[in-house]
Amino acid sequence: MTDLYRLLPEEMEQLVIDMGYPRYRADQILLPLYYKFPKDLSEIKQLPKDMREKLIDAGYTIGSAKEIHRVVSDDGDTTKLLLNLTDETPVETVLIQYPSSNINGHPRSTICVSTQIGCAMGCVFCATGQMGFEKNIKAEEIVAQVIHFADILQQRGEHVTNLVFMGMGEPMANYDEMIRAVRILTHDRGFGIGQRNITISTIGVMSGIDKLAEENLQVGLAISLHAPNNELRKKLVPTAGPNSVEEIVEASRRYYKKTGRRVTFEYALMKGINDSPEIAAELASLLQGNGTHVNLIPINPTAGDFIRPTQDSVLEFERILSSAGVNCTVRVEKGTEISAACGQLRTDLIG
Ligand code: SF4
Repeated sequence: MTDLYRLLPEEMEQLVIDMGYPRYRADQILLPLYYKFPKDLSEIKQLPKDMREKLIDAGYTIGSAKEIHRVVSDDGDTTKLLLNLTDETPVETVLIQYPSSNINGHPRSTICVSTQIGCAMGCVFCATGQMGFEKNIKAEEIVAQVIHFADILQQRGEHVTNLVFMGMGEPMANYDEMIRAVRILTHDRGFGIGQRNITISTIGVMSGIDKLAEENLQVGLAISLHAPNNELRKKLVPTAGPNSVEEIVEASRRYYKKTGRRVTFEYALMKGINDSPEIAAELASLLQGNGTHVNLIPINPTAGDFIRPTQDSVLEFERILSSAGVNCTVRVEKGTEISAACGQLRTDLIG
């Protein structure tokens, strides 16, 4: 069985040619796949019946994610889904919406996709990390997560504006499938989202960062740092061992030099752990002059034993970074009441 959402448009073209059909038939599959979201080949009426039958006989299918649970935040801005993938494995995918500032009034709609079931990185503050690693998600299953939300949004006259690879799993640990999904989703004959509207988030897998820099893509890179020194980082990210914070910062410079895209450092603020003024100063001196951006994320109040810092200490942390010339913002975590931090919904429901 091959899911048609796995194929790049060039591969789709080759498939129809190999089956003895003219090249343009590929677009008659691609257009509905990415604009009408059919659930079955029989719904693609533009194709001759014999061609649809041949595709089915040859084992081609249209995969889709099946919604098994939905939670919407009180303000309606965050929708978290538990989706069953082809093999019935449940995965989390989240839609986060921000009011629009543009003229047509549509909200900015960011889909946060998962790339693995569970995660081997074991970050101590992360629900997914506590599950351990189960399996990698295939490219077509990453695409299916986006298509599922695109369909929901289309019915409201809205569309997907941004994608972040920040859900369950470490994208760089499932590199080939993650990149295949990015190429399908950004292809102008595929889903067609702008490369600049995609962010890949990593805990700092350096080999992945360097490989991504060579892909000739304009995707954004976010690195979850969480600590300015190796001793503290190893406590929070137990698998961080091989890569020091200095090496990770150096890899971010290489990424910037190669792609021209500024790297964002994500920093989850945890009370009494990594939020002191001394640590802020240490982080400032690590990143000073690096041209990067720091996203401070006061941790989700439901993240196990970790406590969200007070508003005053968050602002003080931000002030120290900013006054050292480090570009910095505080991210307002949305949907905390529905366990919107990665892996929490699945953990709450399935364990
Ligand atoms: S924070 Fe990201 S890298 Fe760390 S355990 Fe969770 S999913 Fe994995």
